[in-house]
Amino acid sequence: EPSGRKRVLFLFSDTGGGHRSATNAMIEAMGLEFPDTFDCKMVDVFRDYLPAPLRYAPEIYPPMTKFPETWAISYRTTDGKRRSRAVIRLLFPYVARSIRRLYRENPADIIVSVHPLVNTAMLRTMKKHPTPFMTVVTDMVTTHAFWFDRRADLVVVPTDEAREVAIEYGIPAGNVRVVGLPTAERFRVPPADPMAFRDAEGWRRDLPVILVVGGGDGMGPMEAVVKAINEAEPNATLVAICGRNEALQERLRALPWTMPHHIYGFTSQMPEFMAASDMLVTKAGPGTISEGFIAGLPLVIYSRLPGQEDGNVQYVVDQKAGVWAPRPHQVVEAVRRWVNDPAARQAASEASRRVAKPNAARQIAQIIADRVGVFSPARRSA
Ligand code: UDP
Repeated sequence: EPSGRKRVLFLFSDTGGGHRSATNAMIEAMGLEFPDTFDCKMVDVFRDYLPAPLRYAPEIYPPMTKFPETWAISYRTTDGKRRSRAVIRLLFPYVARSIRRLYRENPADIIVSVHPLVNTAMLRTMKKHPTPFMTVVTDMVTTHAFWFDRRADLVVVPTDEAREVAIEYGIPAGNVRVVGLPTAERFRVPPADPMAFRDAEGWRRDLPVILVVGGGDGMGPMEAVVKAINEAEPNATLVAICGRNEALQERLRALPWTMPHHIYGFTSQMPEFMAASDMLVTKAGPGTISEGFIAGLPLVIYSRLPGQEDGNVQYVVDQKAGVWAPRPHQVVEAVRRWVNDPAARQAASEASRRVAKPNAARQIAQIIADRVGVFSPARRSA
């Protein structure tokens, strides 16, 4: 530690599941809670260290999600205590050397894993000289067996439901903490005047705003959903965020529009978009859902990855914060109800806000610091 700072190594991969945004949020929170105290580093385990073809996982992931049933099969066949161990035994020799190199090249005072597939490989590799190891789970409920290795010092989960799963998979109850999914600071401190953002973007003040977010890559059947809403002509504004999918943006612009609408590509202003909107129509990404909770938005979820994201949907529905609408006409039904019935919209909005965990990243930063013996000075009021 030449700088005298403690080193935190975050292991993630760009394979959806909100791993990158959760990692960024924790690094941001470390800096805010403990200025100039930690050196945080994030490593994409797949892209930076694993041999081909695993190295290409971040590139393979987006097209793979277009075949959800294949995804579901591989998810199910590897889930479960015994099965997941068998798969790992099979794969470990293949990745062992890479993981050893990762461990050697990135000395740290604590390792924080934000990806299900690295836990066991890492913990096996450092058997002899263990570094404190924490897992931060980014699935809301249906957390795959790969997330849980009992050798982890601590497992942070987003919900009580996920805690049950962790314990079922053998994590000692004392090593599981329910905190929440880490989200960016800017969601915690919403803009003072959401209407100012509407004005700046030219959105009408007098109509409810339906925000449609297709995820970072604009994946999923977003086009059909937007078309169906437009054809239903609700008395509302539609705002669509297409992520990095430019072709989708163009196709949406070219629709025969019946309602006020605004089409965007990838935005770095998601907190402002959410604060200025009245409902969120999206796929079941854990990051977007958690951010929607913080903004108190009723949710309409139109697609999910079977297995991995089933629990995210189930959680939203159980908490009455939104609805599952896999068919465009179901999206239209939900949107129409919330446009026409402000009381119903308000109820869903309150339910959404009730399950929000805006301080999760800050709390995880405290936990990380605590594990490496850094204690916060009297907390500044924030
Ligand atoms: N996002 C963003 N700008 C965009 C689209 C998405 O900042 O134009 C962010 C969004 O706020 C969320 C993340 O990208 O933090 C997507 O994470 P999520 O877990 O919802 O989906 P996945 O990682 O599975 O794509």
